[in-house]
Amino acid sequence: MNFALGIDVGGTKISYALIDNNGIIKDNVVKVLTPKTSNEIENILKDIILKFQDCIEFVAIATAGTVNNSNDKVIGSTANLPVGYKEINFTELSDKKVFVENDANCAAWAEYKIGASVNCKNSIMLTLGTGVGGGIIIDGKLLKGKSGGAGEMHFSMSRNKKRQCTCGAWDCFESYASGNGLKLTAIDIVGYENITTYDIIEGANNGDKNFKNAVEIWQNDIALGILGLANLFDPDCFVLSGSMGKFVDVGKIEKFVNSYVLTSPTKIYHAKAGNYSGMIGAVLLGNELI
Ligand SMILES: [Zn+2]
Repeated sequence: MNFALGIDVGGTKISYALIDNNGIIKDNVVKVLTPKTSNEIENILKDIILKFQDCIEFVAIATAGTVNNSNDKVIGSTANLPVGYKEINFTELSDKKVFVENDANCAAWAEYKIGASVNCKNSIMLTLGTGVGGGIIIDGKLLKGKSGGAGEMHFSMSRNKKRQCTCGAWDCFESYASGNGLKLTAIDIVGYENITTYDIIEGANNGDKNFKNAVEIWQNDIALGILGLANLFDPDCFVLSGSMGKFVDVGKIEKFVNSYVLTSPTKIYHAKAGNYSGMIGAVLLGNELI
């Protein structure tokens, strides 16, 4: 069996594991804290790779931020990583081939190869966490666009400048469909700020009227965004992942979307490829592209 080293670089931690051609993790996933400077990140990545270089075919890195079309550099959207991170040339980290791709794109690929969207050649994954990440697969290929950054889920919900998004524009899908969006929706309803998404979900499950209302509005906003994407891309399915994805009633959203969609009915699934879908997807993509 041939192995690759899968690494996931996030704003708070770096995780890594040996992963085989089929996307199966060999031993344990190891996690270390993400250092504060890009030099330290570069050095820690080199150290990790050095430990495994005799038993791997290549290195596959899933990272926060958008990644260029040659899969060797991060080109943008790395608010939670140091500025210099964009200067790292990933191919220079090792004598082995190094492949890097955006973490949400990698996770979308893992779902397509071994998870919820297997056999769906046209699929869109939405990662609902603090923000919203996305990966779009069209005709069995990851949609990258001219720069490599395609699939950013920032498009307007048209709410007359109600919320300013993290990207600076007003009323993006992300500012309503994310965990943070749910929180802002709940704050609008209850009138105080000291709440967490956990409080809201727990409260809604325990029958709290305000929190139930907040969750319903949040799901309606997700459904509206998905309807727009379904009309634009006509995908076989959508996959919802991330820490908030599991709280979405996919059946309800699927029913709403399919009652308005102009293209053709679509399916909506919860993600199945697991917590390490980023690094697994990076290896599975690397298998095909390098
Ligand atoms: Zn935005």
